[in-house]
Amino acid sequence: MPKKIPAYGAPAAKALLVPMTIERRDPGSRDVEIQILYCGICHSDVHKVDNDWGGTHFPVVPGHEIVGRVVGRGANVSKFHEGDLVGVGCLVDSCRECPECRAGHEMFCDRDATWSFDSLERDGKSWTWGGYSSRMVVDESFVLRMPKDLDPARAAPLLCAGITTYSPLRQFGCTRGSQVGVVGLGGLGHMAVKIAAAMGAEVTVLSSSGGKEKDALRLGAKHFLCTKDPGALDASQGKFDLLIDTVSAPHDMDALSALLRSFGTLVLVGLPPAPTPVNVTGLVHGNKRVAGSNIGGIAETQEMLDYCGQHGIVADIELIRADQINEAYRRMGSGDVRYRFVIDTSTFGT
Ligand SMILES: [Zn+2]
Ligand SMILES: [Zn+2]
Repeated sequence: MPKKIPAYGAPAAKALLVPMTIERRDPGSRDVEIQILYCGICHSDVHKVDNDWGGTHFPVVPGHEIVGRVVGRGANVSKFHEGDLVGVGCLVDSCRECPECRAGHEMFCDRDATWSFDSLERDGKSWTWGGYSSRMVVDESFVLRMPKDLDPARAAPLLCAGITTYSPLRQFGCTRGSQVGVVGLGGLGHMAVKIAAAMGAEVTVLSSSGGKEKDALRLGAKHFLCTKDPGALDASQGKFDLLIDTVSAPHDMDALSALLRSFGTLVLVGLPPAPTPVNVTGLVHGNKRVAGSNIGGIAETQEMLDYCGQHGIVADIELIRADQINEAYRRMGSGDVRYRFVIDTSTFGT
């Protein structure tokens, strides 16, 4: 019999989130049953509830920054045991056979990955429910091992914000002495600063809010540029090896690519709503690159967690109760979060 699980979800587009009861499948032979302890609130949760990208299937239970404890497992589970602290990120399944899956890029599965929420299971019929709930059942191949020494509530945002920034830093060669600029200091940006600084880069934060300078330096940046100040960028033309651009509002890409040195890369991890013009001449003169990056596969996510464990990297969070989720969504709409809300899911009941 499938279990009835307390959860928080939105019954319709732009509706407030309300308590609801969902069903989870009984653990299959390779499934791990997880008691969820904490779940981070990602901006894409809000976009899904607001149906900003179209196609959200309601009711929806969001959440893909999930940390919990193993409370049950199928007969053939080999990687995890009862009591293990585990994580689940954006992915809960994929075809596992196509070239993308075999290369460890499950998020680009040729037969569509199964996402942690608002996604069809491999049976093509049932919808997935996310981490704003008290239990979850996931195939062990998509379950991550959490480092023991990290505060589990503060580690939850690593499962999306962490891998979203770690992966492009690795892909585009961030290393000791690299000049790295982080554009936008929100949930993603603050993780990018911490991880790039741990990799030995000299980090500059570029933000439109001058009030964030103190935070930027505390998080590990060496320099701060307020992009609203006239002429603020003049002295940094041609400076950066790598720019991690976390901004999802429309913005001037040419002003950013001018800050790259030759062979430098501007990587976009935010999703601006409309096409943005780019001055190609500015890219050709200097062999500059504009790239995108979307989370990371399961193996790379585990690598990121292990790296953060070794370096003591966690998110700056505000821990909230279930009844504060709607308030958190409202505050995120006005940029009032430093730097991630994380839900204590024990407040859902069991
Ligand atoms: Zn996310
Ligand atoms: Zn696949």
